[in-house]
Order: sequence, then structure tokens, then C-alpha cells
Amino acid sequence: MLKTFLDRLSVSLQQQVIIVNIYVLMYDLVPMDEELYRQNILELYRHPRNKSEMVDADLIGKGINASCGDRIVFYIKLDGDKISDASFIGDGCAISMASASMLTDKIKGLATNELRSIAPGDIYNMLGVKINPWRTNCALLGYEAMNKAVKANAK
Ligand code: ZN
Repeated sequence: MLKTFLDRLSVSLQQQVIIVNIYVLMYDLVPMDEELYRQNILELYRHPRNKSEMVDADLIGKGINASCGDRIVFYIKLDGDKISDASFIGDGCAISMASASMLTDKIKGLATNELRSIAPGDIYNMLGVKINPWRTNCALLGYEAMNKAVKANAK
């Protein structure tokens, strides 16, 4: 009886270890050298920079990430060909909100044609943490919304 119980408990503990390992993988627990980046992401999630509606925006792009429920509207204000201001509004996970917030800062002062040289890899570098394959849509949502904004203007 007790042995059966212990056997069951032992199996159960192994399963718990597996579950914990899966949990750790799912939530992107990262090496210590990424901890500062992670804190920055969480800080931007709590207190996002440039998160506001822009009523006089020249370019507007929307992005929806159905898998995570993230939604973003990306605004760009132009001064000639230069981006004089950028902002976003939306709801979603920390990675989606932080990456959109970082992107608004990154593109201010750039010319619109310079936006084309920004690649997904730049977004990952900006975030500074390992992005699991199923979180790429979160990380790139602001970037996609920005590209939609630029394309909508180009037609
Ligand atoms: Zn997300």
C-alpha cells in the first residue's frame, strides 16, 4: 500500500519536474545577462513611452495578434519626409507593448525610406531577450503595424 503510494508520488514528482521545466521554457526565463533587458521590458509594459492616441497622425497602421490577443494602432507624424513623432495605443502582453514602445523611440527623426531598413532582427536586438518562436508575433506586432502605416501612405 505505502510502496504503491510512494511509487505514485515518485512518478508525480517526476511529472512535476517536467511541468516546471515546460513552465520555465514557456515563460522565457533567461540567463542573468538578459535580466536587465527583461526588467526594461516589464518597466516599459507598466509605464510605456509614447503610448497615446495621435489625433493628427499622418500615417496609421493597425496590427492584431490573434494568438495572444495583442492589438496595436501605430501612429506616425511627418515633417516633410522625416518622422517627427511616433506613438501607439493598444492592449496586450508585455513583449508586444514594450517592443511597440521601443520602436516609437527608435524611428523618431528617421526618414520614411529608412524604415524599410529596419528588419525583424533589429526588433529582437532591441528587446534583448530570447524570443520563443510562438512569441515572435508578439515581438513584431508593433513593427508590422508600423509597416502597414507606411504602406498605406505609399499607394
Ligand atoms: Zn503577445
